[in-house]
Amino acid sequence: MNCVVNVGGQEIQFEIKYRKVKNIYLQVKMPGKVYVTCKRGTDLQKIYSFVERKGKWILNALSKYNAMPRYEETIKKLSSGEKFLLFGKMLEVKFVISENFYVRFDDEFIYIYGKAENVIKNFQAWMKNFARNTLQQMLEENFKKFERFDLKLPVLQIKKMKSRWGSCNPKKGIINLNFFLIKVEKQYIDFVICHEIAHLVYIHHDKNFYRLLESVVPGSGILKKELDFKYASILRQD
Ligand SMILES: [Zn+2]
Repeated sequence: MNCVVNVGGQEIQFEIKYRKVKNIYLQVKMPGKVYVTCKRGTDLQKIYSFVERKGKWILNALSKYNAMPRYEETIKKLSSGEKFLLFGKMLEVKFVISENFYVRFDDEFIYIYGKAENVIKNFQAWMKNFARNTLQQMLEENFKKFERFDLKLPVLQIKKMKSRWGSCNPKKGIINLNFFLIKVEKQYIDFVICHEIAHLVYIHHDKNFYRLLESVVPGSGILKKELDFKYASILRQD
C-alpha cells in the first residue's frame, strides 16, 4: 500500500507492509524508499502520525541517499567534462578525434580516441571487452588463494545484473559476475570473486563458508557492507 504524508512542505512517500509484529517499525532502504511495518489492522491514522513524527529523520536519511552520486552505465554523448566511473574513481572523459579507436585512462581522465560518429558504439564494445579481460584476470589471480582445495578454474560469465554482484553454480563450475563491477574499487571486486569461489568449496552461507572467506579476504564483512552501501545506486535492491 502506497501512502503520502506532508512534513514541513515536503512529501514523504511510504509503503506499508503488514507483518506479524508488535510495534510499528520504520525503514529507509536503498535507493531511498520508506517502509512502515506493522501488524494488520493497525489504525491508519496511527501509522500516518507515526511517519509524521519521524518526518525529520526520514527526510534527513532520504537526502543522504539523494546526495549519493548516480552512476551512468556508459557515456551518453560526445561532450567534454562528462564523468565516467571506473574502479571507484570518477574519471573525466576526454574525446580526441583520431583515425583509429582506442581508449586509455589514468587516475583522473579517460581518453577516448576515435571518429566522432562511431565513438559511443565503439566505447561500449571496448567496455565489454575490457570488463571481460579484467574480470577474467582477477578471477585467475584470486583463484590462487584457493590452491589448497584442488579446484577446477571456474568458467566466467559476465552479465549486467540489477540485484547482485555475483553468483555461483558450483555443480556446473560457473561463476557469474556483474558487468558493473568494473565501476567499483578493485578490493571490492576481489571480495566478490573470492565470495563466489568460496561457494565451490561450501555451497551454503554457513560458518565454514564465512570462515574460509575471511581467511582469504580479511575484513570481508566490512567490505561487503561498504560495497553495498557505496554502490547501492548501481545495484537497485528492492
Ligand atoms: Zn554467496
